[in-house]
Amino acid sequence: MRLAEIIGLRPQPAAGLLVTLTRRCPLSCAHCSTGSGPASAERPDPGDLRRFVASFTGRDRPEVMMLTGGEPLLMPGLVRDLALSAREKGTRTAVLSGMFFARARTVPKAVLRAAASVDHFSASLDLHHEREVPREKVFAALRELSATGTRVSLHLTGTGPDDPYLAEATAAVDREFGGTLPVLVNEIRAFGRAAAWARPARAVRTDDGAAPAPCAMAAWPVVAFDGTVIACCNQHAVDRRPVPPHLRLGHVAEDTWGTVRARALDSPLLRMVRTVGPLHLRARHAPNEPPAASYCDACHQLSALPGAVAAAERTASGAAGALLDLTVSRGRSAHGATALVRAHGCAPYAAWVERPAPGGPEAVR
Ligand code: SF4
Ligand code: SF4
Repeated sequence: MRLAEIIGLRPQPAAGLLVTLTRRCPLSCAHCSTGSGPASAERPDPGDLRRFVASFTGRDRPEVMMLTGGEPLLMPGLVRDLALSAREKGTRTAVLSGMFFARARTVPKAVLRAAASVDHFSASLDLHHEREVPREKVFAALRELSATGTRVSLHLTGTGPDDPYLAEATAAVDREFGGTLPVLVNEIRAFGRAAAWARPARAVRTDDGAAPAPCAMAAWPVVAFDGTVIACCNQHAVDRRPVPPHLRLGHVAEDTWGTVRARALDSPLLRMVRTVGPLHLRARHAPNEPPAASYCDACHQLSALPGAVAAAERTASGAAGALLDLTVSRGRSAHGATALVRAHGCAPYAAWVERPAPGGPEAVR
């Protein structure tokens, strides 16, 4: 599965599922947005995860399941089990790793087996990671992983388009892989690994929400570290408890994918968040409320505002609401992966997501 295919699916509600396998990570990156580290113990119950993924059916399943963390490859057997179970129903799996294992001379066999069972393998790299795992070792491990036949890519993060680190690191990638390695270049932000390219609308004034400012982060359900399934991939929302009712889609111990997907797709409030954004809804239909502290605070409060809930029911219920949702997500996807990254990631490097793969298209699936 190509990186550009994954990115292309990102705006489509419930086209993907993000699963955090563990908050634990052997690395201790200074900027870690998930608060991961060697001492973190939180993780969903593996049995619940297996059962939840087994609830996918040929007709009702995500197109892609992305396994992340923390460090998902601390549990290579679970990665493999989930990927093989998902594949039986037609879902493809991508894994995103911090590459702790690249410090060893060769990639451990269990990690190679896990890599061979997934459809895409992405490595995270940035200045902080490089203090933990040298870049050359990440490159060497990517070559070894690519030899399993699975497509590989790099998630490279910097401070912005003018970051000299990004210029230098992309030049190094080109020297090493000769223009064949796809790279998703992002800017460091506090939204979490699961967010990948997405982020809330930028520079939205919280006291003037009249203009629609849709949220791109409410598309793919996220399995959080405690097994709760949340409608938003912003790490603050993923970690926040209690979860506001409209953002809570269920729990892997209790629900099936079909239930979670239906809640994600059919909720009028979520449809409004995805199509006009929380501030617009609040400004129009709860105008007497004091200004929200932030864009996401406005969202968190929505289910407690009767005027906003009633307006969402009127506007975004039933077939009309589904059509509105579909139209907005198709509009976002229409111009392809490069255009999406140009809008949501680090624009000057957007076209890097379309690069083929080391070894050429025949060498990989
Ligand atoms: S590799 Fe990723 S998850 Fe692990 S500490 Fe670094 S940023 Fe956090
Ligand atoms: S909390 Fe709401 S507005 Fe904020 S990123 Fe999540 S879905 Fe979007």
